[in-house]
Amino acid sequence: MSTIPANEPTFRESVDLMFNRAVALMDLPPGLEEKIRVCNATYTVRFGVRLRGQITTFTGYRSVHSEHMEPVKGGIRFAPSVHQDEVEALAALMTYKCALVEAPFGGSKGGLRIDPRDYDEYELEQITRRFAYELAKRDMIHPAQNVPAPDMGTGEREMAWIADQYARMNTTDINARACVTGKPLNAGGISGRVEATGRGVQYALREFFRHPEDVKVAKLTGKLDGKRVIVQGLGNVGYHAAKFLRDEDGCTIVGIIERDGALHDESGIDVDAVYAWILKHGGVSGYPDAAHTAEGATVLEAECDILIPAALEGVINLTNADRIKAPLIIEAANGPITAGADDVLREKGTVVIPDMYANAGGVTVSYFEWVKNLSHIRFGRMQRRQEEARHQLVIDELQRLDEVLGDQWSMTPNFKDKYLRGADELELVRSGLDDTMRIAYQSMREVWHDREDVHDLRTAAYIVSISKVAASYRAKGL
Ligand code: NAD
Repeated sequence: MSTIPANEPTFRESVDLMFNRAVALMDLPPGLEEKIRVCNATYTVRFGVRLRGQITTFTGYRSVHSEHMEPVKGGIRFAPSVHQDEVEALAALMTYKCALVEAPFGGSKGGLRIDPRDYDEYELEQITRRFAYELAKRDMIHPAQNVPAPDMGTGEREMAWIADQYARMNTTDINARACVTGKPLNAGGISGRVEATGRGVQYALREFFRHPEDVKVAKLTGKLDGKRVIVQGLGNVGYHAAKFLRDEDGCTIVGIIERDGALHDESGIDVDAVYAWILKHGGVSGYPDAAHTAEGATVLEAECDILIPAALEGVINLTNADRIKAPLIIEAANGPITAGADDVLREKGTVVIPDMYANAGGVTVSYFEWVKNLSHIRFGRMQRRQEEARHQLVIDELQRLDEVLGDQWSMTPNFKDKYLRGADELELVRSGLDDTMRIAYQSMREVWHDREDVHDLRTAAYIVSISKVAASYRAKGL
């Protein structure tokens, strides 16, 4: 089951076409272009698990796109649509994404062809552990070589099983926990990882709206506050992005598209209430406080300021691209726009904030988690109280001033509490993520605005990341 129409290039071909558009504008040494584009290796594993009295055979993949830096990194997806082409496309995007946000990894991706909703928790654990075993015994899960993370259909629970499976197979590896990221906090995870990709989407939009010239290109005005948003896929990425934009940035969520149709309400939808409804009822159907349409995809074409596809690849394709009204699309999912649709949207003047940047929050915080696991210490543990003690010195001085100046000056209420508090791990993670998203955006927009032959953020993003990968290869003497 693919969302990409049969007459359009496959997901991997789409990624390659976008890559080709960028390298045509670059001056790479002969042959290097192809070396960067091709996928180094894709491993297919077929394994049996005894379930409900019989052996069921599963098919899984782990693709390594580029080893210009190691370990390679990329999520593991559980979905019935998983196949080699998809995993290779996603692995390639990981290479470019890591390079763009300067996470020191090559690109990889994994997938298991399974609908997780068909199995109970115990069965899923057996399947996940067996898949992890098959990959780990071939070093396709390894703290120094290949570090998976969550993706569609997987989350903290699956990552904890994978970490434990690796640890059982490598009992003396002191860095075993760094073999996978996205783990629960009590199993070596990091604060802020669950919501990191959605948080990254929010930070990306905040950075976009800090540049009035860019906002103008999207034919929008003003700030993020008050913008009308439609989101497709209220899973990990879509839910957190929509929630943060609504609760913290004053956006109104006017549409939510899910598997079983879409909700639409111009006055705004309560994201948390819909999320709770989906958990209980398995979909958005029947949700009482917004109009429901069974033809969910039509809501992609509804009026809004910002469209956030956060579900599957290829949902904006040649069949609907010309009807998309959103002037700004942020690709929270990987590859939601096909290469053909990308051309149509560019012609129309739609601004697309590309996937390799927009959803890089996940791998960025995964990078922090990996570093935390290798250093065996929580971020902030050494300096937090020392920082507070130094701030106390300033507060003491200000308090003296307060007493001397009496009526003329006093400290702002709350200042003391806010200033005194040293940063904990979550604050440090958010700070690191925010910094990463700002710097990466600026590197893309510089190319977008400075080069006359670059007309969109995606091409700019490819140019920035391919340059970095090329520099790594050159440094290796290739
Ligand atoms: P998820 O499984 O948590 O959520 C996916 C959501 O999309 C679910 O709510 C599902 O019901 C919905 N969905 C599925 N098919 C749909 C359809 N046809 N129409 C509308 N909705 C549909 O997955 P996720 O982790 O949120 O990943 C979503 C996208 O974000 C994927 O493209 C993934 O590769 C990308 N991504 C995820 C992460 C991460 O950290 N989880 C990081 C980077 C990129």
